[in-house]
Amino acid sequence: MRLSTVRVADHRTAAARQEGDELVLLPYSDIRALLASGDDWQERAGSADGERLPLAEASLAPLVPHPNKIICLGLNYATHIKEMGRPTPAHPTLFAKFDGSLIGAHDDIHMPPISDDLDWEAELGVVVGRPGRNVPRERALDHVAGYTVANDVTVRDWQHRTREFLSGKTFEATTPVGPALVTPDELPPGASELTISCSVDGHTMQKSNTADLLFDVAHTIAYISTIITLLPGDLILTGTPGGVGAGRDPKVFLRPGQELVTTVEGIGELRNTVVKDRL
Ligand code: ZN
Repeated sequence: MRLSTVRVADHRTAAARQEGDELVLLPYSDIRALLASGDDWQERAGSADGERLPLAEASLAPLVPHPNKIICLGLNYATHIKEMGRPTPAHPTLFAKFDGSLIGAHDDIHMPPISDDLDWEAELGVVVGRPGRNVPRERALDHVAGYTVANDVTVRDWQHRTREFLSGKTFEATTPVGPALVTPDELPPGASELTISCSVDGHTMQKSNTADLLFDVAHTIAYISTIITLLPGDLILTGTPGGVGAGRDPKVFLRPGQELVTTVEGIGELRNTVVKDRL
């Protein structure tokens, strides 16, 4: 099953189920509200009927517009660790984003006026379903509602201003997440062995496979839930493979007007245009 959050009238959003080339609106304000509505969310989402609209005409909101948490992994593919000149980490490198950084699958990426170093990071996204604390690795995948595509678009010079990544990672309206949550039954366990790629104006910049994750989805969920309770709708971005702009010689960054396309096999595609914000 494929689920999205779509914009509807009066600045509201609704959860929706994809059915062929249509979306069926569900009686929940977004994916988080659906997942938090009880353990049988999947049956209800699969059987509910409602207003229909053509998928091609839908305005997709961030998959989960307001998660309780957005937790990201840095340095989680060997190729990216090497290009950033970092040692292989013994533990997952975690950082966070705020919900104001999230955009929909086809929304514009807002390049801030104070930087020209906007960089791409194609990532597999995980959406938490069942709440959990101290989840053992063997049961970690039971807590996954589904998988999605994200691009952890980064203001690279601000990321490296200090040792903490946060400032470069949570700029307003920079991080597309979508186009859908794909339930785990449609994908390999832990969404492993899926091709992940990213292109800029049609030129492939990243191409890798989720089998190369240093810390896989089960390990990551077990690790984060040791720290804090995972809640329905929480978003986890699992890190990016090699091929980012800052890892190239010479470095390459996104320019206003360029189109960034991010794909994970079996899940879908993000298509976002860069626009420069003015002060
Ligand atoms: Zn990242």
